[in-house]
Amino acid sequence: MELLKSVCANVRRDADADAPLWSESWSALHHLCGQSTLDGAAEILDRKMVTRLVARRSRREYFLVEGNGRGKSHTCVPGFCTCKSFCLSVAAKPDLLVCKHELAVLLAEPLGKLHNNELEDDEWAKAFSHAMTMPMMEYDPHLAASPVKDAPAQLALMP
Ligand SMILES: [Zn+2]
Repeated sequence: MELLKSVCANVRRDADADAPLWSESWSALHHLCGQSTLDGAAEILDRKMVTRLVARRSRREYFLVEGNGRGKSHTCVPGFCTCKSFCLSVAAKPDLLVCKHELAVLLAEPLGKLHNNELEDDEWAKAFSHAMTMPMMEYDPHLAASPVKDAPAQLALMP
């Protein structure tokens, strides 16, 4: 993971230097992340928006990566993404370092594609909570279909 971060930082250096090493960084990324993750990240950086949301006072931050249509986005914090492929592939396989959204986040700043959005801390906290829970709920059809089904049973256990 540290190696991946340093390669991503090199992409910036290469881009600044206008590029003989550029392809070397890409082949390192290819080696570290695999073709499909790299292609996915490149497509995101070409066509979609990657936004860093920063809380004004605490300087906490998370990233939103625009998803495919219908206004859906994925939320990334370091080491975590709300997408299905992170859940099914990255988290379950030690050899996979990142999903395409995480890679897009790592590359967005070096490539000058990162949008920054600063919020007041309380607004940030609300936005973060929303951004973390909404994409996850979609992937649990049972939960999405009946969000409060189990609530009464739990309440009945209270004294
Ligand atoms: Zn992801």
